[in-house]
Amino acid sequence: MSDLREAPKPTPSRLKRLAGRWWRQQSPSRQDRFATMGPLVSVLLFLAAITSAFWYLRNEEIDRATEALHRDTEILAARESRQPLYSKPYNDPQGAPVFQLHVPLIDRHGFAGAIVVEYSIEALLRYFVPTEVTRRHAIAVLGPDQRELTGTVNTPTQTQSNNTLVYQVPLAPLANGIQLRGQGYRTSIGLIGNTLFWMVVALSVLTVWMLLGTWRHMRRRSQIQKALVQETNFRRAMENSMLTGMRAMDMNGQVTYVNPAFCAMTGYSETELVDGFPPFPYWPEDRIEENMRLLQQELQGRSPAGGIEVKVKRKDGSVFDARMYVSPLIDPKGQQTGWMTSMTNITEAKRIRDQLSASHERFTTVLEQLDAAVSVLSVQQGELLFTNRSYRLWFGGDAKGHEGLTSVSVSPPFQAEGEDNVDTLSGLPTQELMDSGAQPREVFIESLQMWFDVRSRYLQWTDGRLAQMLIATDITARRRVEEQAQQQAERAAATSRLITMGEMASSVAHELNQPLTAITNYCNGIVSRVRAGTIQTEDMIAALQKTARQAERAGQVIHRIRAFVKRSEPQRQASQAVDIVEDAVELAGIELRRRKVNIHTYVAQRLPPLMVDPILIEQVLMNLLKNAAEAIDSAQMPPSRRHIELRVVPKHSAEEGGVIEFSVTDTGPGMKEDVLARLYEAFFSTKVEGMGIGLSLCRSIIESHQGRIRAQNLYNGSSVTGCRFAVTLPVDLSQRAEGPAVPEVPMETAVSNPNASSS
Ligand code: ADP
Repeated sequence: MSDLREAPKPTPSRLKRLAGRWWRQQSPSRQDRFATMGPLVSVLLFLAAITSAFWYLRNEEIDRATEALHRDTEILAARESRQPLYSKPYNDPQGAPVFQLHVPLIDRHGFAGAIVVEYSIEALLRYFVPTEVTRRHAIAVLGPDQRELTGTVNTPTQTQSNNTLVYQVPLAPLANGIQLRGQGYRTSIGLIGNTLFWMVVALSVLTVWMLLGTWRHMRRRSQIQKALVQETNFRRAMENSMLTGMRAMDMNGQVTYVNPAFCAMTGYSETELVDGFPPFPYWPEDRIEENMRLLQQELQGRSPAGGIEVKVKRKDGSVFDARMYVSPLIDPKGQQTGWMTSMTNITEAKRIRDQLSASHERFTTVLEQLDAAVSVLSVQQGELLFTNRSYRLWFGGDAKGHEGLTSVSVSPPFQAEGEDNVDTLSGLPTQELMDSGAQPREVFIESLQMWFDVRSRYLQWTDGRLAQMLIATDITARRRVEEQAQQQAERAAATSRLITMGEMASSVAHELNQPLTAITNYCNGIVSRVRAGTIQTEDMIAALQKTARQAERAGQVIHRIRAFVKRSEPQRQASQAVDIVEDAVELAGIELRRRKVNIHTYVAQRLPPLMVDPILIEQVLMNLLKNAAEAIDSAQMPPSRRHIELRVVPKHSAEEGGVIEFSVTDTGPGMKEDVLARLYEAFFSTKVEGMGIGLSLCRSIIESHQGRIRAQNLYNGSSVTGCRFAVTLPVDLSQRAEGPAVPEVPMETAVSNPNASSS
């Protein structure tokens, strides 16, 4: 049955509740509007009520007066209506308005005459109208022409104009057109009513005016209030979102306020903290004394502006580092009421700082301990921005060392064109500079007698300036070793040349023996013919010229050998391939002739000059020719296969560019696989008396000239027909234009008969 309960009737208390709820549902601005409009509306309603009350009362009054007037006037008229015949009103000789009554006298014989009565209208009015009527109304008698004959009031025109309440009846049964008129006076009720009405109106207007003023004032107040609420909300949001803990204290150190962040940081609730006195619960036990001292300092306003670092204990017992800043709390009167303390958790910041400083320390330690000198120089100011220990040790504290290492001035390479990648600030192509990698250079510092490998790089310094960083590694030791190795190599080359000559000693002796024998023969022949006196002067001259030519030939051989074995510093110079080939073939020819091996030489025309040491290249060619001849000889090749070809031709490959190729092709037995693999190994030889340094030396000589040496077997089908050694040397491009003229005719010599030259 409970479901069928009737809806509760709205009782007054319920209505009140409903109204209250409705009121609370309204927004504050609406509430304000209602609060302002309410009184205004009630004043207007009051004014309307008063106005309608006055109107009602006035109408009532007029109705009542009208009724009384009708009544009184009609009573008067009725009284006058008893006579049968009346004359028209007229003025008597005195001028007073009168009318006559003619009453017929009738006896048995009929009309016997008439009684004439003359009435004074004035007197009638005076005697017959009661005073209470005349007091209330103005009564007048009007003639048929509506003219007033007489009245109770003397100034009829005035009265008529002021009075609106008029009632007129014919004075029946007087059929003479006389009318009785009653006029209502306006009594004091109008005057009093009007005054009251206007007073009410004025007061209402005043009230409305005051209300409007109040309303305007309230509107201003509500605007201010709105701004205040907004400001408060903003501050509260700020305070709540802030990670900084805030705590306010009064002048005695009692906590008056903490913000949510402070509670979150310490783990204590607001109620646990507010109103508390020191020592506060978040003070670590072992630091209470210190904190007391700090608080005292705080209350006396002596806290450092930079804040104080403190340890704070959370409710769970853990401790963190915090920094606190204190500022005075000032009330609106300018009086200090306490202190506001802000607290930030700096554990993370401290950890990062510690890490940073540790990493910085590591970094500087590494840099400081580096054997290389590191320096950073600002490009525009030429100011040293950083140096490490090694730099300071070697170059001191100034930028001269840095500049010395760059050897050229620090100014980076400018790009004449390509405006678009130029930095507007300094006019330097910064991006390009910084992208360009470190280009190592080897620099000798005279004052230190040290060699440095210098790598430089442009970078943007911490303050945004363009700077050049140099890393100079001491490579003096390496350079010394390299120099020593170089000297060793030179010595080895010289030694090798001596060895070559030693090996060729018997051939050379044989070679020299021929001209010397010839000279001896010529001399002996001349001597015996001079003694016999059978020689003609012309014959003697011819014989002596032959002798001299033989001596010259021997001298040339010795000169070439001397030039070949002379130990000298390697000297690169613009050399012609044809000259090198000529000298090499001349010397090797001695050995080739002894081994009965032919040589055919071809040197291409118009070869560009080479920037080489001609003696070293000659040594390489000598070695290759000697090896070829030895291979042919030791294999005891038949005369048809005792042949070597030396060709010098220009070549171009994508890999090496423009080169000159020297190739030595023999018709020997070729090389076995294992020999090919170990060809350039030092001390590798297949010969009984071989030293095994020839080819290894050849390779180092060629490589020191940025050239290459290659060896290969030559085949005819599957059978080896010989082998080919090819040496390529880069042409000297710088000399190409003004190089010495190349002989027009290719040098093409053939030593077909080893003994032919000896004749
Ligand atoms: P060496 O001549 O003192 O043996 P090299 O370094 O000049 O030293 O030569 C190393 C080896 O290479 C030789 O012992 C030989 O076996 C092989 N060799 C060099 N040139 C030729 C060639 N033209 N034909 C065959 N084998 C060769």
